[in-house]
Amino acid sequence: MTTIATTNPATGQVEKTFDAAAEEEIDRRLALAAETFATYRNTGVEQRAAWMNAAADVLDREAGEIGALLTTEMGKPRTAAEAEVRKCAKACRFYAEHAAGFLAEHRPADPADVGARDAYVRYEPLGPVLAVMPWNFPLWQVIRFAAPALMAGNVGLLKHSSNVPQTALLLEDLFRRAGFPEGAFQTLLIGSAEVERVLRDPRVKAATLTGSEPAGRSVAAIAGDEIKPTVLELGGSDPFVVMPSADVPAAARTAADSRCLNNGQSCISAKRFIVHEDCADEFEELFVEAMRAKRVGDPMDDGTDVGPLVSEDGRADVEELVADAVGKGARVLCGGERPDRPGWYYPPTVVTDVTTEMRMFHEEVFGPVASLFRVRDIDAAIELANATGFGLGSNAWTRDDAERDRFVRELEAGQVFINGMTTSYPRLPFGGVKRSGYGRELSAEGMLEFCNAKTIWAA
Ligand code: NAP
Repeated sequence: MTTIATTNPATGQVEKTFDAAAEEEIDRRLALAAETFATYRNTGVEQRAAWMNAAADVLDREAGEIGALLTTEMGKPRTAAEAEVRKCAKACRFYAEHAAGFLAEHRPADPADVGARDAYVRYEPLGPVLAVMPWNFPLWQVIRFAAPALMAGNVGLLKHSSNVPQTALLLEDLFRRAGFPEGAFQTLLIGSAEVERVLRDPRVKAATLTGSEPAGRSVAAIAGDEIKPTVLELGGSDPFVVMPSADVPAAARTAADSRCLNNGQSCISAKRFIVHEDCADEFEELFVEAMRAKRVGDPMDDGTDVGPLVSEDGRADVEELVADAVGKGARVLCGGERPDRPGWYYPPTVVTDVTTEMRMFHEEVFGPVASLFRVRDIDAAIELANATGFGLGSNAWTRDDAERDRFVRELEAGQVFINGMTTSYPRLPFGGVKRSGYGRELSAEGMLEFCNAKTIWAA
């Protein structure tokens, strides 16, 4: 059975444990979700926007305190945690402002052309939506689902990662304090084994999962069996291509920032660095220098760039991938050795001479470890960038328009960032292709994933 607990990754100490919700408690909450939906769906968008703005106010007001909780539960630097809270407040305000426009009825056809007096599309909520969420951006991943879903008139049921229970409970409390009806957003403290039972419950109408491929496969299979729509945001092994025309020093700095983001545990961290041979020596030197310069330490200290990995198992997974590569001939250019201190620290690491026989070539490395490749031309760069089962984000650095157009058209990814680092914005759709999942979050697309686009035709 899953342990639901806060274990501080900086010390390895268990700080608080929780009992999983009993069968009757899960049932009571599902009933409350269904009951709340029946009335909540009829609240006006303006009323929901007022509640959503109130949630944003709470997040802004308590950003420091909430950020410290995120750091305690999963180890990201406190400054980054506080920035995450503020980003969540912005997303709430964005949907409060734009939901009415995104949900507005529209007329895609002249009614006369379809033989009607009137023909239009209206967007209706689906009902209770189950959100299975990961620990790495424990507030942001949930808010980017909840803000659009609640604004559209759905109600949310959160099954968060078992290692961030206090953040999970804080989220339920946040929406209640903001004024949303009890039952509009509930947290289920359950392990992953309980997900199937909740997902198959007829009161649950749809699901979204952000997490690993095995979890996504399981949820998608069950939802498919129940004919319930899903959005899947899964792993990534994003390429970061650097061409000789690029600003190579800027690319090297950004490369290190991207790889070390969130202690190296971000789905959209660049993980595979693919560099044209004409600028490879310069890039390698500057990149290794920038990775070495990252300050590894207590995530509560303001000066820390890279805190511990989330768990002992998480660090062991990273160490195994590096050991496998080194055992098969890869070279470590920096890092590669865990520091001798309590907590699950692992240093920024660059590995080169990575080949297709190595696990690291194919798997997502969820820690601050970069694979560095040299290629002879843009064809080889694009081929290598696409030689992965994943297709989440991608980055290409070039000042040549023809090269830029090729990256834009040919990279197999949900987003292509030119001369920058993949990130997410409430205004832009976010999601992947291939084994990184399907569906979109954020922007209007994210909101409409959990709506019934109902066509009305009237003679
Ligand atoms: P994970 O182990 O898949 O866990 C994610 C969530 O799924 C947790 O709530 C977990 O619950 C639950 N879960 C695990 N196995 C399940 C199953 N068989 N059935 C139903 N639910 C299940 O992933 P993680 O280690 O927390 O997160 C890291 C992964 O998420 C990485 O691959 C990362 O790239 C990906 N990610 C993707 C995005 C994106 O936007 N595409 C964003 C962030 C992270 P328990 O904690 O109780 O096991």
